[in-house]
Amino acid sequence: MTHPALNTVCPVCGTQVPDDMPPMEVVHTSHLDDRGIPMLRVCSRACALLVHEEPDLYYRAARMNTKAASITG
Ligand SMILES: [Zn+2]
Repeated sequence: MTHPALNTVCPVCGTQVPDDMPPMEVVHTSHLDDRGIPMLRVCSRACALLVHEEPDLYYRAARMNTKAASITG
């Protein structure tokens, strides 16, 4: 089951996220706490591990449904 509000592009590598990939909960970051637990989807476990390195960056990219590298210049 795919959640329509979630991203379809992996924010880490830019690959299309498989339809059966469940969303992951991003670890809390200070300014996201008041919006609840943010969720995003990635294409693989390897990418999920990278999200935990910089959850804020990748969550922002996921909300824009784009690759993080494309918003960081
Ligand atoms: Zn990926």
